[in-house]
Amino acid sequence: MSTDCLFCKIVAGDIPSDKVYEDEHVLAFRDIAPQAPVHILVIPKAHVATAAHVTGENADLVAACFAAIPQIAKAEGLDSGFRVITNCGEDGGQTVFHLHFHLLGGRSLGANLL
Ligand code: 5GP
Ligand code: ZN
Repeated sequence: MSTDCLFCKIVAGDIPSDKVYEDEHVLAFRDIAPQAPVHILVIPKAHVATAAHVTGENADLVAACFAAIPQIAKAEGLDSGFRVITNCGEDGGQTVFHLHFHLLGGRSLGANLL
């Protein structure tokens, strides 16, 4: 846990979240500023700062997130598809430096990024 990390505080329960999924390694909760009818953040419970910090040692956490995503998508009724995005670093538009995957859906998202 990183003490000054917003998402670590959400994992710890110190900051409330609208949780939709949880297992040993993964937490998923609704984004506070949704960009689509369904906008969920899927995060590893352990602190990994960005996608650039994924290594052979912690890649199992990424796998755990991606194993959760189809279950969450199904529970949210995203049967006709969804988008998964991760922003990495300053140029990637990342604002919270705890690795997270945006799960977006509930409307046709088109061919562009968002
Ligand atoms: P990033 O810009 O780092 O890819 O995504 C960070 C996301 O976290 C944004 O979509 C933002 O709306 C969301 N966010 C920021 N603070 C909070 C919060 O306190 N709770 C929740 N649920 N989402 C947050
Ligand atoms: Zn963190």
